[in-house]
Amino acid sequence: MNGRGQQSRFDRGDDVVVMKFGGTSVEDTAAIRRLIGIVQSRLSAQVVVVVSALARVTDQLLEAGNAAAKGHLGSALATVRDIYVRHEELADSLVDGSAHRALDRELRGEFRTLESLLHSLEGSRQLDLRAQDQLLGFGECFSSRLVKEALCEAGISAAHVDARTCIVTDARHGQASPVWDATNQQVRDTLAPLLESGRVAVLGGFIASTSDGVPTTLGRGGSDFSAAIVGAALCASRVEIWTDVDGIMTTDPKLCSDARVIRKMSFDEAAELAHFGAKVLHPATLAPAVRENIPVYVLNSKRPEGEGTEIAARAGAGNVVHAITAKRKVAAVEIESERGVDSELLRAVYAVFDAHSCAVDVMAMSPGRMSLLVSSTGALPGIAADLEGVAKVRWENHKALVCLVGKNIRRQPDVASRALPAVADMDVRVMCQGASDRTISFLAEESNVEELVQRLHALFFAKPETSPDWGEVSVAFCQAGLSPAG
Ligand code: ADP
Ligand code: ASP
Ligand code: MG
Repeated sequence: MNGRGQQSRFDRGDDVVVMKFGGTSVEDTAAIRRLIGIVQSRLSAQVVVVVSALARVTDQLLEAGNAAAKGHLGSALATVRDIYVRHEELADSLVDGSAHRALDRELRGEFRTLESLLHSLEGSRQLDLRAQDQLLGFGECFSSRLVKEALCEAGISAAHVDARTCIVTDARHGQASPVWDATNQQVRDTLAPLLESGRVAVLGGFIASTSDGVPTTLGRGGSDFSAAIVGAALCASRVEIWTDVDGIMTTDPKLCSDARVIRKMSFDEAAELAHFGAKVLHPATLAPAVRENIPVYVLNSKRPEGEGTEIAARAGAGNVVHAITAKRKVAAVEIESERGVDSELLRAVYAVFDAHSCAVDVMAMSPGRMSLLVSSTGALPGIAADLEGVAKVRWENHKALVCLVGKNIRRQPDVASRALPAVADMDVRVMCQGASDRTISFLAEESNVEELVQRLHALFFAKPETSPDWGEVSVAFCQAGLSPAG
C-alpha cells in the first residue's frame, strides 16, 4: 500500500516475476548464458533474479571451513583458491572492460575476507554454526555479483542487492527462519524502487541476516525459500524455480530413470514431497507462496521451452500415489528410559535435540521407548552425552526413508497391500508415525534405496504401452488394479 489506501501497480504486484536459478543453472559460462536468455524472455514483467552459489561451491566452502578448523589451513586455502579461479574464469568469459575490472576488484575483496575467516577458524579450531553461516554465504555473494555483471554485459539493466540487507531472520544459525514483517518491509523498500525504474534486481539466495546484521542462512537448498520469501513480499504473479530437471517428477530421476514430470500439483502435495526429501524444492519454500497464493513453477534451465510443473492452490484430479521420495543419510534413533516415556522425558529430549539444532523427522512412542529419525547424525554423540542419566540413546546410521506420498494415502488399504509384498524381501520397516494421511514410509538400508524406489515406482507408475499422459493415467490404472505390474 502507498499509505493513502491506494494500491500502486507495484503493490498489486501484477507482473513481478521472481526467478530462482539453482547451482547447476549458474555452474559455467553456458549455464549463465542460458540464464541471460531466460531472463530476457521475461522482461515484459518486473524481474527479480535469485541465484544459488555455483554448483558444488557450498560443499567446497564447508569442506574448507572444516579443514581450517582442524588446523589444515593449507588445504582450506587451496580449496578456496579453486573457487576463486573458477569465478575469475567465468568473469573473464562473461564480462569485459571496466565492468570486468570492477567485478574483479569486488571478487578479490570478498576472497580476501573469506581467507581471513579461514585464518580465524584455524586460530579458534572451531567451526560453529554462526561462523558456518558466514562462511557458506560467500558462495551466493560471489555468484550474485557475477550474474548481475553478466546480465548488464548482455544489455540488461540489472542491479545487485545484498540479500542480507533485506531478508531478516532469527538467530537460529544453520536454518534460520524469517522475521516476516521486517523482511517484507525491507524487501519492498529495497526492491520496489529498482523494479519500478525498470531494473532487474539480482540477489543471492540462501543468505540473510539477523536484525543486528549477523549473517545467517536459511538451511541447505534455501535459495528456493529465498525466492518464495521475496515473491510473497512483492506479491509476485509467479515464482519460477529454474533447475536441472524438467519439473517435479514422480520420483528422483537420479534414482529411477522411469520418473516422469508431474504437470500440476497442489501446494500441499508439493510441500509434502519437499518435506519427505524431494530435493528439488526446499521444504519451507511453499509456505510464503501459499500465504499469498502465488503459483510456483519448477522449470528446466537446460530446456526452457518445457512446461515444467505448476504448483498452485488446486491441482487436477487427485491420484492416490503422487510421487515417491527418498531421504538418505537418515539415522534411526531409539531413546529408552527406565521410568517410561512421560511429558518430562519428552520435554528433556526435545530440549536437548533443539539445543543441538538436530531436527527430528518422524517419531513413535511405546512404553519406555521413543523412536526418532534424524538427518544430521553428527550431533548424536553430543545428544547422547547430554541425556545421560535421563535416558539411553542408541542409533543406527546409513538408513534411508522412502515415502509414498499422495492424498489420503494412508486411508487407501490397497496402496499398502500392494506395496508391502513388493518390498517384503528387502529388510524394510514400515513407518506409520507421520501425523498426516499423505504418506506411507519405509525405513530401509541406504544401500537399498535405488532398488526400493525402482520397485515401488514400477508398481505405482507402471507405463502402459500407449498412454499419452503418464501423470494422470498410470495411477488410475494402479487404483483399478490394471497396471501391468499389478
Ligand atoms: P538446484 O541446484 O537447481 O537447486 P537441486 O539439486 O537442489 O537443484 O534439486 C534438483 C534435483 O532434485 C534433481 O537433479 C533431482 O535429482 C532431485 N530430485 C529429487 N526428487 C525429485 C523429484 N521428485 N522430482 C525432480 N527432481 C527431484
Ligand atoms: N548454495 C546453497 C546450498 O547448496 C543454497 C542453495 O543452493 O539453494 O545449499
Ligand atoms: Mg536446490
